[in-house]
Amino acid sequence: MSIQDPNCIFCKIVAGQIPSRKVYEDDDLFAFHDIAPWAPVHFLMVPKLHIPSMTQLTPEHERLMGRLMLLAPRLAMEQGCNPYPDGGFRLVCNTGTEGGQEVHHLHVHIMGGPRPWVRG
Ligand code: 5GP
Ligand code: ZN
Repeated sequence: MSIQDPNCIFCKIVAGQIPSRKVYEDDDLFAFHDIAPWAPVHFLMVPKLHIPSMTQLTPEHERLMGRLMLLAPRLAMEQGCNPYPDGGFRLVCNTGTEGGQEVHHLHVHIMGGPRPWVRG
């Protein structure tokens, strides 16, 4: 697929122009390991569409975001998170600068695995 925002690092990862360790891909969603993991399992899930943050979501994204949320626990378990309730995972969606967002292409962090973690 073509680059949607040529200045966006996650658009480049989705397009394969920047290498990543892929976790999952379908027509609409892409998941890859975080380059600086906080936890034994730490990957990112992104819509392929360049949406800068949650604040740009509109009703037309409802199905996309619903699919992402349903996929998250499946991928978390596949990547080695332990089963609920003693295991589980943390899902984080930093939004805006005060929300801790550094890359402005909507993404959720999935973190899990045995504690202690590096951070979080
Ligand atoms: P944010 O602070 O925007 O929620 O998180 C951005 C995340 O993207 C950070 O955890 C950071 O480690 C990760 N990241 C930044 N650049 C790259 C990259 O080039 N490749 C990968 N795999 N992760 C990246
Ligand atoms: Zn992007």
